[in-house]
Amino acid sequence: MSLLATIYIISSVTFILGLKMLSNPASARRGNQIAAIGMTIAILGTIFLYEDNGQKLHNYVWIFAGIIIGGIVGTLAAKKVKMTAMPEMVSLFNGMGGACAALISIVEFNHMQNAAEILKGDQSNGYFIPNFSFGFIYIICLGLVIGSISFAGSIIAWGKLNGKIKDFSFKGQHIVNIILLIIILGLAAYLPIHFLESINNISFHFYIILFLAILYGIFFVLPIGGADMPVVISLLNSFTGVAAACGGFLYDNKAMLTGGILVGAAGTLLTILMCKAMNRSLKNVLIGSFGASATSSGVKKEQGAYKEISLSDAAVVMSYAHKVMIVPGYGLAVAQAQHACHELEKLLTEKGVEVKYAIHPVAGRMPGHMNVLLAEADVSYDNLLEMEQANEQFPTTDVVLVLGANDVVNPAAKTDPSSPIYGMPILDVELAKACIVNKRSMKPGYAGIENDLFFQPKTSMLFGDAKKVLQDLIGEIKNL
Ligand code: NDP
Repeated sequence: MSLLATIYIISSVTFILGLKMLSNPASARRGNQIAAIGMTIAILGTIFLYEDNGQKLHNYVWIFAGIIIGGIVGTLAAKKVKMTAMPEMVSLFNGMGGACAALISIVEFNHMQNAAEILKGDQSNGYFIPNFSFGFIYIICLGLVIGSISFAGSIIAWGKLNGKIKDFSFKGQHIVNIILLIIILGLAAYLPIHFLESINNISFHFYIILFLAILYGIFFVLPIGGADMPVVISLLNSFTGVAAACGGFLYDNKAMLTGGILVGAAGTLLTILMCKAMNRSLKNVLIGSFGASATSSGVKKEQGAYKEISLSDAAVVMSYAHKVMIVPGYGLAVAQAQHACHELEKLLTEKGVEVKYAIHPVAGRMPGHMNVLLAEADVSYDNLLEMEQANEQFPTTDVVLVLGANDVVNPAAKTDPSSPIYGMPILDVELAKACIVNKRSMKPGYAGIENDLFFQPKTSMLFGDAKKVLQDLIGEIKNL
């Protein structure tokens, strides 16, 4: 076995190990580093050891210029990005992956076409083109279609998450999308069969597929509501993986193939898990426009009155409780209150109170957002309860402290079939003896809907920025 093949096998193993380690917060960072090392040796191995017909790569200036520029941009972006803007960055980077896969297809198509044109006059050659096979051209087309859809869709998702692009749909858009997809697939299936006969105008045919695939990517994501963007990003991520795997086939590159397949499979599994967490089918996510309808319906129901609690009363209630459950949400991340939250937990624990955290799978703005946030503040993983465990414990909980969470504790998901979040599993905080909700106002959360929880008799509102409120609460408890 050649040295390069050995390197590819080692790097494939690091990808698999890294992915496995990402499934546990304690090993996730190390897993990421191991996979990154594997990727580095795969890239360096390809640059210095890859040979095509006895020729090594020679355009090192271009290659290293790209690596350095991309490395600097990527590092700065990753260092500067706020945790709450992470889904946007993931979406943008995923779009770049899709674009790379599409570019590989364009480059390989041009190679193939040039080879065919050179050999065109030489009839004795019988149009023999090295490497040519229908399968090869099909894979080029597949990489082009999937990569372009992923690129265009991810850029729209990025724009939607940062608010630059608004939801847009027109009557019958889903039908138009389906027709568009059928045309793209038809053209992609037809191209390889007629590649050699119509070599002069095959480029036009190829770029029409590219154009339509980009259009489809835009139309596919535009009508999907904002609250469903994480599911869509995860789906597009799996598309990019498949498109990269196509590149692996084209170059007979095992590391690229394994990496692409792993991303494709992981993205698909994450998509399914997120749909389950929201109790919705993928079809419903893609056609239902959940976020869009949620924000546009925005019908205000009569809610009655809510009651407030003072800082000192909240401090007393929590200090004399047996068990307190903290429910973190997006607002905690915005306020960067994770350290103050951990301090409150330690203070209450010292007073003999049992403190746990209830983690909803889609709390915040990305999968695992709350786990990452709390890990940053050194909160012990043993104190984090998954939704099912937490729901079992709410009836025996004295006080629930909701910190900047809203949709994930909205009982309408269980009680109101007309609610856009109906069916999404939520944290049953109303089963606890008392519930204190911290947020800055009565404004709705991400899905844009009212929350009945705030008006229930057991609930008290504690208004203010989560970090400030927690710091003041800590001061009050220390003074008790
Ligand atoms: P929500 O977005 O429903 O609610 C967050 C609440 O935090 C708001 O009501 C806001 O109220 C409050 N808030 C904002 N800033 C502060 C602050 N500085 N201090 C205190 N409170 C603050 O968050 P949840 O975590 O409950 O739910 C997540 C939602 O996001 C779900 O709908 C989910 O589907 C969606 N989503 C999830 C993703 C994921 O993968 N996790 C990705 C994208 C969306 P106020 O303005 O009054 O302070």
